[in-house]
Order: sequence, then structure tokens, then C-alpha cells
Amino acid sequence: MTQVYNFSAGPAVLPKEVLKQAADEMLDWHGSGMSVMEMSHRGKEFISIYEAAERDLRDLLDVPANYKVLFLQGGGIGENAIVPMNLVGRKTQPAVVDFIHTGSWSGKSIKEAKKYCTVNVAASSEKQKFSAIPPRDTWKLSKDAAYVHVCTNETIDGVEFQYTPDVNADTGNAPLVADMSSHILSRPVDVSKYGVIFGGAQKNIGPAGVTLAIIREDLIGHALSICPSAFDWKLVAENHSMYNTPPTYAIYIAGLVFQWLKKQGGIAAMEQRNIAKAALLYDYLDSTGFYRNDIAKDCRSRMNVPFFLNDESLNDAFLAGAKERGLLQLKGHKSVGGMRASIYNAMPFEGVQALVDYLKDFEKKSG
Ligand SMILES: *Cc1c(COP(=O)(O)O)cnc(C)c1O
Repeated sequence: MTQVYNFSAGPAVLPKEVLKQAADEMLDWHGSGMSVMEMSHRGKEFISIYEAAERDLRDLLDVPANYKVLFLQGGGIGENAIVPMNLVGRKTQPAVVDFIHTGSWSGKSIKEAKKYCTVNVAASSEKQKFSAIPPRDTWKLSKDAAYVHVCTNETIDGVEFQYTPDVNADTGNAPLVADMSSHILSRPVDVSKYGVIFGGAQKNIGPAGVTLAIIREDLIGHALSICPSAFDWKLVAENHSMYNTPPTYAIYIAGLVFQWLKKQGGIAAMEQRNIAKAALLYDYLDSTGFYRNDIAKDCRSRMNVPFFLNDESLNDAFLAGAKERGLLQLKGHKSVGGMRASIYNAMPFEGVQALVDYLKDFEKKSG
């Protein structure tokens, strides 16, 4: 098989070992005679897969006992509606929700939330073209916000929070809600500092179709009456994510990824690798006048690295040459342009090395 490195932002690269195991188990899972896709979600085989996945995820992220782990459908975009529908009911209506606008994805969250609450954009880096995260001491948080929403890794713009913002003092204990779709499991996180963490799986967890939500228990049970039952966290939690049929195969693959992460040494070990991978790429981009990354150094994403060729007329030649070398899906998001390398957990160091080698060679040839 051809060796390629896939830099897609999502759906994205999965660990080879996981794909291989899934292939081996495709027709007959553990002697059951069935594929996981064919199993009842209420049968003992799938329940054992589900329980192992939840247990391994709790271990990896050290999820405190007073948090529920839900496997939902709807993706990150679905959560943009599901979160307000479940949280604003704790306040008198219309409730205020604070948002930190750091890029495309928090922008989408803001737009959707306006259907359910009064939005206060407490800080925005839009004027800086999302090249930095507004410093915490500039945020204008509301006194009585239902919650504060942050996107801790902006997949399109390439900015990442390098710390967990403390919002308690200004807001009177508003829970912090984080869209971690594109960097969950890439670095340790203190779950107890968040009210809700959510993420679609197809960036750093598994295949598209399953959405993870980690929710502090006291925030469950306040859904608005308009909230669809399948997205009411209380119903979903009471039914162990099986109020409706969950995306069983996606949960199974996510579970294999969790086992793989444990074998790699867990999240702290992954973080060290991710730091090394990101440093290799950013250091090279910073060292030449041929390419550039425009993000402030203290908020550069370790997962999604947008970059530009200073001579944009070379873009097509750059992408064609990359493809020839098996370096795939490097084209930047259409709203930003240029290139983007997504280097999630499953991207090996060698893949980033191969990209940097190509960057050098292309520069030599064309510069
Ligand atoms: C990809 C992404 C989403 C959207 O995910 P969907 O599964 O398409 O709904 C939301 N937030 C972030 C940060 C993302 O990277």
C-alpha cells in the first residue's frame, strides 16, 4: 500500500493500528459471528464495547465522578443549539450567554445561540483577523450569564487556548462551556474547571457521526420544553446515551482509539509528541521568508497549522507537488486561503518531518 500522510482537518487521519484492528474484526467481532455494525445497541456485546469506551475515556481525561459522559449525534454544529437548549433554562428568560469570539467556529456558535438566548460577545479578535486570542483581562463578561462559551481550538483559524480561562470571579459562577472538537485528547485538561466540554469525533477521536459531551451533573435537567428529547441531556444521561440508537460503529472505533491512546502512554505522552510535531513545523515556517504563519506565537494551535506561500501564484504547484509525495489535503479552508496542515494525535512525527522536507525542497526549487 502507498504510504501517504493525510493532513485533513476532518474527517481526519486515524491510527493505522486502529484501522487494521477494525478490518480484522469487521466480519466477526470477538467470535460473535457479527460485525459491530450488525449488533443491537442493547445486546451484551455492544454494551461491553460501550462501557469500555466510556471507562477508557474517563481514565484518559481523568473525568471526575460528578460528570456524565454522553455519546450523542449532531456534531459540533448540533451542539451549538443543543447546549443553549439545555443550559439557558437555569436562568429567567431571555437568558444572557457570554461568548468569546476567536474564529470561525465560535462565530458559528454565536449565530446559532441567538435563536435561544441573548448573546453577549464578551471579547472578539475579529478586528485582528483572529490572529490572537483576546487576553482574559479584556473580557467583558456579564454578571449573570447562563454560561460562558469558548472554542478552545479554532480549527480553521489555527488559534488555541494554552490555558483554561477562569470566569468565576466576574460572572458569579457561570459554567464554562468549551467546544474542544479539534483538540480534545491532544493535551491534558482539568475537566473540573469546565461545566460542559463537547466535541465532534471526526477530528481527533474517531469517525464522523458521534459527538462527545462531558457534562457536570448539576447542569443536567434544565432543558427548555422545545428541546428535542434525543438531545435532552437528562433523558440521554438516564438512558446511558441509548435513549435513541447511538452511532454504534463510530463509538466502537472511538473506543479503539481510546485503547490506542492508552498504549501510547496516555494524554501526557501525546501532548509531548504534539508539542514536538508542532515545533518542527512552526520553527521551519518562521525560519524562511518563503512561507509564513500569521498567528501570535502564544496562541498557535498545535493541531491545525494554517500557512501561506508569500507568492500565492505558486499555490497550485505546491499542492500538486505535495500530492505527488503522498502529502494529502493540505489546501487551506476557503475562508482563510493558503494552506493548512492538521497534525492530530494520529499524525506521526515522520509525517510532519516529510512535510517539512517537502517545504524545503519546494522552496529550493521555486525560491
Ligand atoms: C469541525 C468542528 C465543528 C463542527 O463539527 P460538525 O461535526 O461538522 O458539526 C465544530 N467546532 C469545531 C471547533 C470544529 O473543528
